[in-house]
Amino acid sequence: MGVLSLLGCDPAARRLAAVPVAVAAPCEAPGIERIALLAPREGLESVPAVERLTLPLDAMRLALPAGRSLVDVAVQEQALVSIGVFGSVDALLAFDVVDPESTVPARSSLDEDGRLPKLVSLRVPLGVAVLRVVVDVAAPVDLARVSQDPAEMPAPGALDRGSTQPLLGFPAPRSRDDGYLLGAPGRYLFTRADVARVVLAALRQTRVRFRRDPIVIGDISQWDGARPASDLGQPRHISHEGGRDLDVALPANDGSPSTLRSHCRGVLIDADRHVCEPGTSRGVDALRLAYFLGLLIDASPATTPVVKVFTDDAYLREIRAATELLKTRRWIKDAGYEALAEDGILRASPWHTDHVHVRFGGAPGHSPW
Ligand SMILES: [Zn+2]
Repeated sequence: MGVLSLLGCDPAARRLAAVPVAVAAPCEAPGIERIALLAPREGLESVPAVERLTLPLDAMRLALPAGRSLVDVAVQEQALVSIGVFGSVDALLAFDVVDPESTVPARSSLDEDGRLPKLVSLRVPLGVAVLRVVVDVAAPVDLARVSQDPAEMPAPGALDRGSTQPLLGFPAPRSRDDGYLLGAPGRYLFTRADVARVVLAALRQTRVRFRRDPIVIGDISQWDGARPASDLGQPRHISHEGGRDLDVALPANDGSPSTLRSHCRGVLIDADRHVCEPGTSRGVDALRLAYFLGLLIDASPATTPVVKVFTDDAYLREIRAATELLKTRRWIKDAGYEALAEDGILRASPWHTDHVHVRFGGAPGHSPW
């Protein structure tokens, strides 16, 4: 696909034009100068050249100049790939994967903030060897790619506690049947490989069992293993290092999406403890949540198990009640049932009125960048 085919009225082309949605002019209007600049008009001397570059499989990084670049990024089919733009925090004007046939999974998180580094992660579909990306930046940047072949991922249980694994970007869902959506900037969605494997399988199985809406995945760790928002000097957790902790939205049954939102009336009981007012919990699909947590606990290997689950006391009670029903239906195994019971790993914690926090054991994952 050439530059000219980026032009036109389709939504993808408009995204590529780096025109913020809120201010984008109607397609017919003469307002999209960035697109117009690309058109090779008669007599127009100052058409900016678009760099056409390649990032081959045997290279990891490519320096890009300020301006617009099109880069063919070589990938292996079915690999878990993360592509990142690294540079000064406000340099990004636009980044997208050019995907005219929509073969590549949906890429955007519900909560991107436009800052660098910008990272997108996905599972490369069968038959795809190149991802073409467009990068538009106000200053020079590096484009980089890391890749994990699922066939070479360590088998669950094959690791001892001391061995380390790479972090990988939680991949964009391919469809609703994957059972989740991404709810944090891509650079804060990096997790240890074994954790990704267990969580992806549990989300998919929960979707198969309940046929309900996708559950939003929130903060995991930064691309470099640090706590999310450490890059902005404002880490927003006291844990979440090394890709072993993840925040998961509460599955909802109140007719609204299962996003990161409070399901109770929150009260500040002292300066640093925000909790649900007792009796105000509403709309949590506790059966689905308990089922998902049971799957995680049962599927996590003995060497890197789920070691703690934190949520608000109000939801904790609902989860425990739901495990009884799961047990009578035989939808939970003994290990999961016991872990979620009174003396198990499920703990009440302030600041969890809108999510559950799942912590896995084992060594921190290492940065692949
Ligand atoms: Zn958390």
